[in-house]
Amino acid sequence: MPAALITGITGQDGGYLAERLLAEDYAVHGLVHDGDLGVPDLLRRCPSVVLHQGDLTHEASLAAVVSASAPDEVYNLAGISSVAFSWEQPVLTADVTALGAARLLEQVWQCQERTGRPVRFVQASSAEIFGDADVAPQDESTPVRPSSPYGASKAFAHQLVGVYRGRGLHAVSAILYNHESPRRPPTFVTRKITRAAARIARGLEHELVLGNLDARRDWGWAPDYVDAMVRAARHSEPADYVVATGEAHSVRDFVAAAFARAGVAEWGTRVRVDQALVRPSDAALQVGDATRARTRLGWKPTVDFDELVGRMVEADLQQVPAS
Ligand code: NAP
Ligand code: GDP
Repeated sequence: MPAALITGITGQDGGYLAERLLAEDYAVHGLVHDGDLGVPDLLRRCPSVVLHQGDLTHEASLAAVVSASAPDEVYNLAGISSVAFSWEQPVLTADVTALGAARLLEQVWQCQERTGRPVRFVQASSAEIFGDADVAPQDESTPVRPSSPYGASKAFAHQLVGVYRGRGLHAVSAILYNHESPRRPPTFVTRKITRAAARIARGLEHELVLGNLDARRDWGWAPDYVDAMVRAARHSEPADYVVATGEAHSVRDFVAAAFARAGVAEWGTRVRVDQALVRPSDAALQVGDATRARTRLGWKPTVDFDELVGRMVEADLQQVPAS
């Protein structure tokens, strides 16, 4: 039975990936850190995962989990995943997201050296490594020029993956564009919007306060992005892959689509912009060209923008049933 180790297993992508690999009869191991609130939900969905206590900031715990799980595939999904939070905690972000990837890569490399068994490593990288790029769409050759502590930390990890690939590890960097689902926390704009649209539709709230409405993002369906990471892990040649839909929409477009789907007319009267929520630096447009993933991996997104918004709004409406 093949074995996989997932860091960040209690996050949005970690849960979808665990479900996917268990369905393929993998032994699935996950790293969970102290006080991880997502554990009960994960165990309800995936009772057979094997959980190991540890933390990306503690190298010894990573050595122990890699050794105990003897993985064929390692997916590094853990990290400080919010750009906004990374401005509040830049040092913690670097420790977890940049140095954490270094600690894990080194442990995986040592495991491969010690046992002689090849291990495949996938890093969840991000469009934020390109910052406010001069070109659109971005692809694997776009210059790495991050503009946030999160982006800089992901850029370090991304480049270190290339270093370990050169050393002989089957190491992949999946340059993920924003991907969403009903499991996305409301700290991210899509879920904040769909949750508010549902609550306003039910009369539980009256106003939604947002930051930059003009930012344009390439939003996809999270399970599709997990599928891309699995395909990349299993391809014979390790490489970097942009994973994106190729279509950009503004935050304003997302609001309009979500409110329409929830049945709320005239969204403009319900939304207020607060400058305090506008970031010190925010890429105007992120849109990816996933040609390499399409041609080499046979990957393509299965859920378009309207369907994504619809699925998220419907899930939020179900959480606040009509009285
Ligand atoms: P997520 O829901 O925020 O999950 C992150 C996971 O990392 C959580 O399980 C979290 O646990 C864990 N974690 C945080 N600090 C840790 C530490 N010090 N040690 C061990 N685990 C730690 O993120 P996601 O949306 O699933 O995304 C998965 C990965 O893809 C992330 O690395 C993210 O940066 C990257 N990515 C995501 C997107 C996107 O649109 N979703 C786009 C580009 C890249 P706690 O919650 O308990 O802290
Ligand atoms: P990110 O791309 O990983 O930072 O994902 P987010 O969902 O947090 O942000 C996506 C875009 O929405 C960024 O351009 C934000 O500036 C913009 N945005 C506008 N208003 C808000 C808000 O109230 N919360 C968040 N999280 N983002 C917002």
